[in-house]
Amino acid sequence: MKILVINAGSSSIKYQLLNMDTEEVLSMGLVERIGIEGSRIVHRVNGEKHIIEKEIQDHEVGLKYVLSLFTDSKYGVLKSLEEIDAVGHRVVHGGEKFASSVRINDDVLNTMEMLSFLAPLHNPANIMGIKAATELLPNVPHIGVFDTAFHQSMPEKSYLYAIPYEYYEKYKVRRYGFHGTSHRYVAQRTAEILGKDVKDLKIISCHIGNGASIAAIDGGKSVDTSMGFTPLEGLAMGTRSGDIDPAIVDFLIKEEGLTSKEVITILNKKSGMLGLTKKYSDMRDIEDNAIAGDKVCRTAFDIYEYKIAKYIGSYAASMNGVDAIVFTAGVGENSPIMREEIAENYLGYLGININKEKNNVRGKETIVSTEDSKIKLMVVPTNEELMIARDTKEIVEKNLDELKL
Ligand code: AMP
Repeated sequence: MKILVINAGSSSIKYQLLNMDTEEVLSMGLVERIGIEGSRIVHRVNGEKHIIEKEIQDHEVGLKYVLSLFTDSKYGVLKSLEEIDAVGHRVVHGGEKFASSVRINDDVLNTMEMLSFLAPLHNPANIMGIKAATELLPNVPHIGVFDTAFHQSMPEKSYLYAIPYEYYEKYKVRRYGFHGTSHRYVAQRTAEILGKDVKDLKIISCHIGNGASIAAIDGGKSVDTSMGFTPLEGLAMGTRSGDIDPAIVDFLIKEEGLTSKEVITILNKKSGMLGLTKKYSDMRDIEDNAIAGDKVCRTAFDIYEYKIAKYIGSYAASMNGVDAIVFTAGVGENSPIMREEIAENYLGYLGININKEKNNVRGKETIVSTEDSKIKLMVVPTNEELMIARDTKEIVEKNLDELKL
């Protein structure tokens, strides 16, 4: 079964074509700067990267071109587009409506549109991708996989904010959490690596990328996560502040003469590592400068690690124990120093011992704790596209079985 995975942003489309009989990636790429001058496609096939500069006015034009590349004599991997059996779409927000992946029909699309108020930057872009793909591939099933769905298992005590309950009743103001597809993949893979049933494990999954969140996963179910009503809550990130006292918003509105929207933009785009260092949002820059003795970068890096450690500690408490702490995503997978400093400076009391040699690893599944460490410390590279393709395959096969009955 061949499955196309699409992750549509407001001006980009990430794609992967997978052969799900072997879970092999046949081709992948990124359409960038859609509707903006300088649009291009970075297309990868057979280990080669091709950059194709091309005017791309909208998502449909971009996707149409990507589909033509799949059957192209030079870049192609398919004889015909009919080989594509289904399409899996990443959708950021499923609200309380979607606790698992679903086959997309008109009702589902309407519900996604209704939920756009919860993710005004993301859902409309995801929907544009879905509309373009269903237009171009109308005869195959399209499946929606939601970033929030995995966290729908959180109990009320985790997802309700202690604010007047009517705001939850009226507007569904609550914690939703994000990166759910990544946290779910990491939990499953961790159980496989440890040779255990995920139902028997308490896992703290640390998705530490430019956007970052931590999830407490008990028995395979998310029971808490650091991102909240929006992805702004939680850890200090590349450009996001993470947790702050909400009274700061009103203070800045008054003192700086800003609108609330402007303050939220500052908290999303100009805060975090960028805000603290005034220069860098990329952790590689901050790490390099911190190691070279730059005080500002060292402080920013300390804050970054400290917040991660605080969440790990709080989730160890909220699950009343933890078996494995797992690092994933850009920084989590690629920064041995961050893992080492967090383990050594903050996690010793849990009986965690890091093996520095094993920890000297980037982007590779590894148990980085010592044999005698009470809790496993691990690196598990995430694979959201594979998870989306697996869900898509499962739903398509289930539908086929139901049709047979
Ligand atoms: P992501 O959002 O998962 O793509 O992660 C992006 C982040 O990963 C950026 O802040 C990168 O600087 C960071 N990153 C990638 N490679 C490294 C590395 N070798 N050391 C530290 N951070 C890294």
